[in-house]
Amino acid sequence: MMKRCKVCNLPETYETIEFDVGGVCNICRQKEFKDSDIDWSSRKSQLVQLVEQYRGKYAYDCIVPFSGGKDSTFTLLYLIKEFKVKPLVVQFNHGFMRQGLLKNNERTFRKLGVDVINFTPNWQLVKRLMLEALVRKGDFCWHCHTGIYSYPMHVALQQQVPLIFWGEPSSEYTAYYDYRDNEIEEVDEEKFNRSTNLGITSEDMAGMISGDFEFDPRDLQPFSYPPMRDLKKLGYRSVCLGSYIPWDVKRQVGIIQSELGWQGDQVEGMPWDEYPYEKIECHLQGVRDYIKYLKRGYGRVTQMTALDLRNGRIKPAEARHLIDQYEGRKPPSLDLFLEYLGITEMEFNNIVAKTVVPPYEPNFNAEYSPKTSDFNDWYREPEGNRGIRGRIIPVMRG
Ligand SMILES: [Zn+2]
Repeated sequence: MMKRCKVCNLPETYETIEFDVGGVCNICRQKEFKDSDIDWSSRKSQLVQLVEQYRGKYAYDCIVPFSGGKDSTFTLLYLIKEFKVKPLVVQFNHGFMRQGLLKNNERTFRKLGVDVINFTPNWQLVKRLMLEALVRKGDFCWHCHTGIYSYPMHVALQQQVPLIFWGEPSSEYTAYYDYRDNEIEEVDEEKFNRSTNLGITSEDMAGMISGDFEFDPRDLQPFSYPPMRDLKKLGYRSVCLGSYIPWDVKRQVGIIQSELGWQGDQVEGMPWDEYPYEKIECHLQGVRDYIKYLKRGYGRVTQMTALDLRNGRIKPAEARHLIDQYEGRKPPSLDLFLEYLGITEMEFNNIVAKTVVPPYEPNFNAEYSPKTSDFNDWYREPEGNRGIRGRIIPVMRG
């Protein structure tokens, strides 16, 4: 039996979790602090000062890195409505954007009237990076997480725009940064190396894949953090809007729905009626959540119900019921994922088994969860292109 928080039900295998003598977790305690002890009106005036400090001096007032999910959409809307800034929207395309997301993006960009830069990295390289990160860390999202956080910083330098606004503060989910420290979280290279890149820099990655994969060293530049010297020279600030205004996902989803026509979507492994707004950006989200469940014994349903339990928006029995009913099932997108990488499910299971966090013991024989309505639109690698180009070494035997 895993130990769990008395309030939010997060298990002991959750990243950065600690329990106090009352059996309540540090993330719940942070939330109490956020509600009662942060002076949000002083934070708001800091935000006003920050925006005014950079306004009108550069080609754009700020950069908004944009996935099209609920948080970046709200961030963009808020900055434009509240401050009438002229933002540059920067979108890193991880390769798995869904139809519903693209439609949301188009509606948002047209309605708000913004300039957008969209960047898509080399797919052959992305596949190789996914395989390497999966084998090394049981987490194939290295290319996406490093790209999302580093690419906009490259654009900041190219365009000479020093102010970058991210959305949600990480204190909502983990204790890498603590609301109780009462400091503004900087989304910088330190954070990048602490919680984004899994301890693997792009130079490390280049070394890891060079034995069997042909690439130009410049191919990895979008995944590398730009030189701190250059960013400092620019006078950059890279911050989360959620450090300045109290973040409230459910309320914010209501706002972007009514003002921008933003729509939620079905996500594999989630209860579609209860949580239609979370992580709709990527058609491999189900695989990511499935791996997390196999490693740590919880998935996104646990995470979402934890937020609602903490906010008193759901009863523990209802949360338990949703978790039992939905969590840990095999996502249909797993088949596509295995085709991309050219590995079998047995190889996949063997890789993930090496990264399991005790005391959890995974079950690899779960039933499939239902297909989402857009499943048939998701990219399938044609037979001749499956797997990694040039790779002849098997992942592992087993
Ligand atoms: Zn808790």
